[in-house]
Amino acid sequence: MERTSRIEGFYKLGMAERLRIVKEFGGLTDQEAMALAGFGGMDPSIPDKMVENAVGSFQLPLGIATNFQINGKDYLVPMAIEEPSVIAAASNAAKMARGKGGFHTSSTAPIMIGQIQLTNVKDPSRVKHVLLERKNDILSLANQQDPMLVKLGGGAKDLEVRVIHTMKGHNVVVHLLVDVRDAMGANAVNTMAEAVAPLVEEISGGKVYLRILSNLASHRLSRARALWSKEAIGGESVVDGVIEAYLFAEADPYRCATHNKGIMNGIDSVVVATGNDWRAIEAGAHAYAARSGLYKPLTTFEKTPEGDLAGTIELPMAVGLVGGATKVHPTARACVKLLGVKTAQELGEVAAAVGLAQNFAALRALATEGIQKGHMTLHARNIVASVGCPPELIDEATKIIIAEKKIRMDRAQEVVEELKRERGIT
Ligand code: NAD
Repeated sequence: MERTSRIEGFYKLGMAERLRIVKEFGGLTDQEAMALAGFGGMDPSIPDKMVENAVGSFQLPLGIATNFQINGKDYLVPMAIEEPSVIAAASNAAKMARGKGGFHTSSTAPIMIGQIQLTNVKDPSRVKHVLLERKNDILSLANQQDPMLVKLGGGAKDLEVRVIHTMKGHNVVVHLLVDVRDAMGANAVNTMAEAVAPLVEEISGGKVYLRILSNLASHRLSRARALWSKEAIGGESVVDGVIEAYLFAEADPYRCATHNKGIMNGIDSVVVATGNDWRAIEAGAHAYAARSGLYKPLTTFEKTPEGDLAGTIELPMAVGLVGGATKVHPTARACVKLLGVKTAQELGEVAAAVGLAQNFAALRALATEGIQKGHMTLHARNIVASVGCPPELIDEATKIIIAEKKIRMDRAQEVVEELKRERGIT
């Protein structure tokens, strides 16, 4: 039977029932389902192996975005995030995209850049050429560091040499282009950059300082696109409203930062859930957005000749399925299994699709009712929970503060106290 991520009323179910559905969809074992639920996930010895001075582990809510169809395949997408509304918005955007075939994606090969900074070079143009002439020697030395990666079809593939101008004069910067296959690649690339640095010094006669990967992974891009029919999203005025919102971000960095933050709400949630390095993804995304010298949106929105809305996204996506925390963290492993992604490239494309969905949902809300209406219900629940409301009174207290339009901690506290008094709860 064809698996579908279009699960009617998923949000209305209890957590246990949701978990049962997700377990069945992903073919998860009892242990993997427990890891998703956060019980029995992280053995106390694991954090001590992962970071220094460990005292425990920190949990985030984990939700599942439904309705995603990407390149004709259905995905249930795990998202780890503390912010309300994000998962609902992604699911809703994905639902509205299904009518026109969902998301279509592509990506470049997983090429990371290792930078080697060369200083004390008097004749940088000549040195650049000499280094490029010795490309094969440099690549071969780099590849000796990681036979495993080379065996898998990856490894150092090419060399770029740039001359940049610093406040102390020029530097020659060597870029080692490494295909890291299914790894995020930072360790792999850093090892290679350190190993070839002495040869680069010998060839150039200069002095090497830094040898480290660049998080501006501009050769490792993930892309996604989707079409939303005007009927599915509330008519032509909504199409126009989303485009106006996009053009605002295109023209103004203050708006653009928030536009791109909305995209990262979706992408980071997937990146965290799969145990990947979200700082690397954030750094890469924003640097890529500013690559022209001006800070720009990572998405585009246009109107098709039929009057529908076409959205696209492109950004660097240094995510892995091996290395780092991805294989160590039991919840991350269960999330990867649920996604069913077979390569890091596929994971990157899913994350890009979620980013596009998230951005569309935010712009649609902003262009219509504003985001606060949807946001406030969940926000109100959080406020009520944060003032120590007993679980059985949360729904009622939330309704009261929303109806009164007083979504504040002081009022929530009063309402909770009143309800407790009425019910005789101490
Ligand atoms: P890693 O070194 O743990 O694993 C990668 C290695 O796994 C490869 O070198 C290869 O030998 C082996 N491997 C096995 N199967 C593979 C496959 N299918 N595809 C690719 N490689 C395979 O991990 P990594 O991805 O090189 O490094 C990621 C870690 O580095 C993350 O934890 C990240 O946070 C951290 N880090 C990041 C930065 C940064 O972003 N600036 C800097 C330093 C470290």
